[in-house]
Amino acid sequence: MKRRTFLKGSAAAVGGAVALGFDLKRAHAEMRELKISRTTETRSICPYCAVSCGVIIHTLGDKAKNVAPSVVHVEGDPDAPINRGTLCPKGATLRDDINNPNRLMTPKVRRPGSDHWEDITWDEAISKIARHIKDTRDRTFVHKNAKGQVVNRTPGIAMIGGCTDTNEFNWLQWKFITAVGIPYRDSQARV
Ligand code: SF4
Repeated sequence: MKRRTFLKGSAAAVGGAVALGFDLKRAHAEMRELKISRTTETRSICPYCAVSCGVIIHTLGDKAKNVAPSVVHVEGDPDAPINRGTLCPKGATLRDDINNPNRLMTPKVRRPGSDHWEDITWDEAISKIARHIKDTRDRTFVHKNAKGQVVNRTPGIAMIGGCTDTNEFNWLQWKFITAVGIPYRDSQARV
């Protein structure tokens, strides 16, 4: 059967079902219900753009020790005031982004003089970042400007936030930036 013939036949079948009085809305709702009936819901934020739409991630797996959880569905969060359950076409593909085999799952470092990236643990990444911040701050700290005014700046560091950063995270991030004296800041977050 040709694809065109198949599509025509399917459209005719759906039209026939509606004409006979079948309620397809109910069938569609049942299908959706079956798909997510045994999943765990996790609320999150779409990472793609600054609109920051709320999403619900449905994960299959009963959290038993030897069961690998798998994300089977992602949809807009109806309780999120920004998008009220809707997602744009890009956000609607989030499941494939989460399940992408090329997704980075560990921090990486390219050491001085090296030509490649190495996987490192989160503990190592965090302690190295802390070390670099301390060293850079010590090296570039400006206590007073040319007029002798106290400024306490660290112009050797800039900070950039992401669109999945929540208000609470941004509050903490801004406290940290101010304490360290970082003058260059931006955030994509609009949440
Ligand atoms: S769903 Fe679309 S509009 Fe919403 S945050 Fe994601 S990319 Fe932006």
